[in-house]
Amino acid sequence: MKIQVDDKEFELMIEYEQIKKRIRLIGIQLNVDYEGRVPVFIGVLNGSFLFLADLMKEIEIASEVTFIKVSSYEGDSSTGRVKKVIGLELDLRKRDVIIVEDIVDTGITMDHLLTELKQLEPASIAVCSLLVKPQSMQHEIEELDYVAFEIPNDFVVGYGLDYNGLGRNLKDIYRAVAVPSET
Ligand code: 5GP
Repeated sequence: MKIQVDDKEFELMIEYEQIKKRIRLIGIQLNVDYEGRVPVFIGVLNGSFLFLADLMKEIEIASEVTFIKVSSYEGDSSTGRVKKVIGLELDLRKRDVIIVEDIVDTGITMDHLLTELKQLEPASIAVCSLLVKPQSMQHEIEELDYVAFEIPNDFVVGYGLDYNGLGRNLKDIYRAVAVPSET
């Protein structure tokens, strides 16, 4: 099935039923791994909102939920792009932290996020990502313990992920249809 989002055509990639099944399994794993602890789930806005909502329905242990945003802007540091964590309201010192992200692509965002959050001295830190693109990863993320799906280097929308701000509401995940090059 093909759909149009803004000026791009997308085709169905992962159905919601499949997403739910993977989330159920990750939930079971988290319930076991964090038994007897009270982890803090940190959803990275905006893309993780549906994933985090469905994931939390599978969590049976005592836990807290909060959200952050990663702002990105062109800085004047030698690395060029600077990302900053905004909106963190909880004290993470000595807490077991689980970062919930929609997608890890190059890993640059997650690498920055981990560096900043580690400075807050949590007891432990793990990453739970709905999607990972292993072929485009530039940073090895050791903390990436929970992954729902590994996907190729396609651009995807749906289930929280957007294209030009649109498509976050789609229940399934869609990939961009490759447009044949004119050259
Ligand atoms: P990274 O820093 O890992 O390269 O990129 C992370 C961010 O890029 C994600 O949080 C997401 O906002 C965006 N991104 C990467 N790949 C995709 C994709 O296929 N679709 C959408 N909608 N966003 C993506």
